[in-house]
Amino acid sequence: MKVEGTDVAQEVSTGTLPGWDRVEHLVTDAHDRFRDDADGEVADYIPVLAEADPGWFGVCVAESGGDVHVAGDTDVEFSVQSISKAFVYALVCQAFGHEGVLERIGVNNTGLPFSSVMAVELNSGHPMNPMVNAGAIATTAMMPGSTSAEQWENVRRGLSAFAGRPLELDRAVYRSESGTNMRNKAIARLLESYGRLPVDPLEAVDVYTRQCALRVDARDLAVMGATLADGGVNPVTGECIVSAQVCRDTLAVLASTGMYERSGEWLFEIGLPAKSGVSGGIVAVAPGKGAIGTFSPPLDDAGNSVRGQRATAYLSRALGLNVFASAARVPRRGADHQVSRHGTGTA
Ligand code: GLN
Repeated sequence: MKVEGTDVAQEVSTGTLPGWDRVEHLVTDAHDRFRDDADGEVADYIPVLAEADPGWFGVCVAESGGDVHVAGDTDVEFSVQSISKAFVYALVCQAFGHEGVLERIGVNNTGLPFSSVMAVELNSGHPMNPMVNAGAIATTAMMPGSTSAEQWENVRRGLSAFAGRPLELDRAVYRSESGTNMRNKAIARLLESYGRLPVDPLEAVDVYTRQCALRVDARDLAVMGATLADGGVNPVTGECIVSAQVCRDTLAVLASTGMYERSGEWLFEIGLPAKSGVSGGIVAVAPGKGAIGTFSPPLDDAGNSVRGQRATAYLSRALGLNVFASAARVPRRGADHQVSRHGTGTA
């Protein structure tokens, strides 16, 4: 449903990060605090992912002004996996516009795991959520290009522009996932049966599988996220990748769906739009300020990196990034208003 009242120019009001030294110190501190945490399991449903070292841990903050702060394993490469969904969605929004993508893909959380077939069935084949597999395959199928090879090239080029360097396909990950992704193929066939895919379903899954196998490091994630925090301009290269409206749309979707069925808890605790992937990456974006990229393979049971969540939670608080936080500007007057366990009252 179209919301009325959105036909006025968008003003922007954000804030600034603390000074360079403070950010540098906090990034190192975030790494030191959580490096020895050993909770979580490395994903193995894509066989080659099980080879990851559970000790890898990198933390990076990229500022929207272009400064980058790193600690730990920020140059270890891994496959981007589901984090690609956020950036392919942005590219498709750029090509088709707000209404086009809203109508064809949707923007709501399914509340179900990322590989759910039920979610498609329960919504009569409408994908609903571009950050889980069904919606992401439908999104990839909309990428500009007259053949799947052209679509793939546009995905690779687009994500490379977000990262500010050429990203390469991890052939071992691509092969490993291609041999085991029957579920994604089934999801694509199901979407086809509802008339929801404009291209050949298996070709759409192939482009999607390739996009998930692009190699990035934690620094790339932070720069990609900082591009969404910077109105679509890559703060390191200065290249304009997508419009400011596309960034807004993409971040709104990430806020409600980026951390799978834990998106509500994530927003409640951390207060930032974010996206995670099963190889252990997380990108969290603070509009106007910058982005946090983390990498650590052990995951919780929803598929989110455990150390990555902890480091991001710490940095969100310490850097003042929670988009819902405010501090009173008017001095307090009179008695404190309190809500007791038995109802509202003034004490
Ligand atoms: N390529 C993976 C899949 O389709 C991505 C999943 C993820 O990172 N959550 O299952």
